[in-house]
Amino acid sequence: MYEIEELDPRIRIMTMEKNDHETHLMAHLVSCTSHCPDCGARCDRKHGFTWRRIRELFRIQHCIRLMLRVPKWFCDNPNCERIIFTERLEWAVPYSRRTNRTDHVLTTLMLAMNAKEAARVCPTIGIRISHDTLLKILRRVKKYSELNYLLSSLRPKRSHSIDRYMDHLREYVMKHLTLKEIKRLLRDLGYKGSYGAIRYRARDIRRGAASRKSALFIA
Ligand SMILES: [Zn+2]
Repeated sequence: MYEIEELDPRIRIMTMEKNDHETHLMAHLVSCTSHCPDCGARCDRKHGFTWRRIRELFRIQHCIRLMLRVPKWFCDNPNCERIIFTERLEWAVPYSRRTNRTDHVLTTLMLAMNAKEAARVCPTIGIRISHDTLLKILRRVKKYSELNYLLSSLRPKRSHSIDRYMDHLREYVMKHLTLKEIKRLLRDLGYKGSYGAIRYRARDIRRGAASRKSALFIA
C-alpha cells in the first residue's frame, strides 16, 4: 500500500505512473459528508469537485505527485456566511502543495541551515523547491506552531556577563538545582551579573531540553 493511502484511507487511486524518482498518482477522495470550516456544521449537500496538486516526500529520492479530486460542499447553516467550501484535509493545510509532514521535513532542514542552502539540498533528498517557497512554508509553520520559540532560540543573543558561565549554568540546571542555589554557586565562581539573567538563561535551557524531549517523542 502507498503511504498516501495511509495518510487518508478515503483516497482511491485512479491512475499511477512511476519512474525512479517520482510516482504520479491521480486519485479521488471518497466522502459522504463534511464539516464547514467556519461554523462547524455538518454538511452533506455536494456542490462539485476541485483538484488539488499535493507532493509527498515518500522516502529519500522518491516523491509522490498526487492529483487529488476533492469534494466541494454547500454550507446550509443559515447563520453562516460561507456558502461553499472545499473539504479540508487534516494532512495538507488549505492551498498547500505539499503534505504537512513533507513541510515538517523541509522546515527542519531550514532550521538546521537556511532557506537558500536548504533549497540546494532538497533535490538531493528528492524534492525540488525554491527558497522563496521554503520561506513561505517556514512563515506558515511559524504561525501555527511552537517553532516560534525554536526560531527565537536560534537568533544570536546579545553578549552578557553570564555567557562565560553558561557551561556551569547548564550543568546546574540539568541537576535541577534551584535558582537561588545556582546564583550562589555562580557568585562563588565570580559571576557579578544580575539574578534576572540567570533566570532567563535557565528558562531557555529548560525549554531547550523539553523541546528536544518532545522532538524525540514525535520522532
Ligand atoms: Zn458554515
